[in-house]
Amino acid sequence: MELGAAPREVRTPAGLEGLDALVIPGGESTTMTLGIERDGLAEPLRDLVRAGTPTLGTCAGLIMLDRDHLDLLDVRTRRNAFGRQLASFESDVEVEGFADADNPFRAVFIRAPWVEEHGDEVEVLAEVEGHPVAVREGHVLAVAFHPEIAGDPRLHAWLLEKVRQNA
Ligand code: GLN
Repeated sequence: MELGAAPREVRTPAGLEGLDALVIPGGESTTMTLGIERDGLAEPLRDLVRAGTPTLGTCAGLIMLDRDHLDLLDVRTRRNAFGRQLASFESDVEVEGFADADNPFRAVFIRAPWVEEHGDEVEVLAEVEGHPVAVREGHVLAVAFHPEIAGDPRLHAWLLEKVRQNA
């Protein structure tokens, strides 16, 4: 992609081999949970992330990382948290360390979750309506919105920077 990485889709445990970084995308968390179970991906994913692989979760990807799913991020999320009227919306969001008020993130929220509760190790990087929508715990970064729809590369660039630091 434009940042110089060679992304590939992973659907099997073997597909995880040799990855330098991981993105868990948006979608539908119930479907993703079933797919992860069916394909035996839960343990290999946990091993990969716990080994220090830089990881980005977006929207349903944030849900998948939480305590009730893969348990790789010390957060509890609320699905479809913004309610019916606000099921989908766009907003300019400041994300600490990534996007300030002068150059905010154009964030697209689609039936997005928010973070309901989090542990002490979790850093909140952005909030909407007083609820965390971007969090980081070490090498795991997760956002409730879709960064790729507005084409903002800053979060993916962070992943690649982490890969370089690990090298
Ligand atoms: N509403 C979806 C879920 O609960 C997430 C939506 C998304 O990823 N855009 O899984």
